Amino acid sequence: MKHFQQDILRRHGLASIGAALFSALFIVSALIRQDGHSITPLLTIIGVYWLGQLALLAWVMRGHSRGYQDPGMTPVFMCWAVLFISLALMCCQQYRTIALLGYMTVMPYGVFRLTWRGFLGVSLFTMAAYTSVMLAVLHNQGFTRPAAEEAVLGAAFFASLVAYSFLGREVALLREAYRQKNRELRRAMGRIEELAVTDELTGLYNRRYLLRSLEKSRALANREGLPFVLAFVDLDHFKQINDQHGHRIGDQVLTELAQLLRLSVREVDLAARYGGEEFVLLLSGLTLAAAEHALNRIRSQVLEQRFSEEALPLTVSVGVTQYIPGEEGDELINRADRLLYEAKRCGRNRVVADPEQTITVLATASAGA
Ligand code: GH3
Ligand code: MG
Ligand code: MG
Repeated sequence: MKHFQQDILRRHGLASIGAALFSALFIVSALIRQDGHSITPLLTIIGVYWLGQLALLAWVMRGHSRGYQDPGMTPVFMCWAVLFISLALMCCQQYRTIALLGYMTVMPYGVFRLTWRGFLGVSLFTMAAYTSVMLAVLHNQGFTRPAAEEAVLGAAFFASLVAYSFLGREVALLREAYRQKNRELRRAMGRIEELAVTDELTGLYNRRYLLRSLEKSRALANREGLPFVLAFVDLDHFKQINDQHGHRIGDQVLTELAQLLRLSVREVDLAARYGGEEFVLLLSGLTLAAAEHALNRIRSQVLEQRFSEEALPLTVSVGVTQYIPGEEGDELINRADRLLYEAKRCGRNRVVADPEQTITVLATASAGA
């Protein structure tokens, strides 16, 4: 059973036990009175109440009330119970003590659920119902006690409802403060999670996030056969930039290159700062040939762009390799790193793909042709 239905059943189940107890008390009171009054009207009222209560409960349990602010429909259940007690009181004014206790038993159900305006609304409804019933009794039979005594009793009842309303208001304020704190906490948690996976200087994902994503890509590749490619992108002669223009300009260069990389990859891909002036791109669903083409386009963009306030020209070297299903993440990273070293050794400003894989891909392609 879903959490929502469990919650409804627990709350309204408890309320129904209270209602059953008061139904029994009205019946016992009617049986011991022996004043010749028929019990039938009371039994009819109790029957109608329970039919309505069960129908309402079934309607809520089926999820029809989900669109409402309070899907538990607390005020409706409360008003239905108040109506039932008032009608029972209408049968005979001797039920009044049970009725007043019944009203006061209904009220706490609203304290934790309703807004304080909602709570005030139910309290006013209860006062109106009680007053109408008592006026009807006065009109039909007259009070058995002196009217002044009735008035004092009514006033005491109203005073308790007002006190409940204040309590409801306090609880509503506490609930709102708690919700606000919860929202702040969730925002802070989100920010912490973001910081934990972001590189501080460039705003790209950091190595930790990259390694986590690599595991996900590996799982997808091993299970679903979805290919992916890993590329190391390293700035050429970056140390010289630091030495000649200072660390601040070096940082600007790194940030701008990171931005270029972020904008150059698709949403399904991932750009991360692996460390220092080394970046890693994780390109999903691509073959090595397609990835090589995309990386050469990025290399050309870097070549054309000027970086930092000093408008420095830059080049990058790239080592790229495709994941071989079954291998460890480390093996893939080491292979890409070796290819990057190869790109540096061959003169930099180039993309070097795994020659063995390129041959395999070409062989597969020609076999398929
Ligand atoms: P190569 O072409 O062989 O890659 O040469 P390189 O100079 O780019 O590589 P090397 O590994 O010799 O130097 C990398 C430099 O990157 C050294 C280090 O000071 C600098 N560096 C690393 N992290 C940062 C950073 O966060 N900010 C700045 N400004 N420099 C950094
Ligand atoms: Mg470098
Ligand atoms: Mg390096």
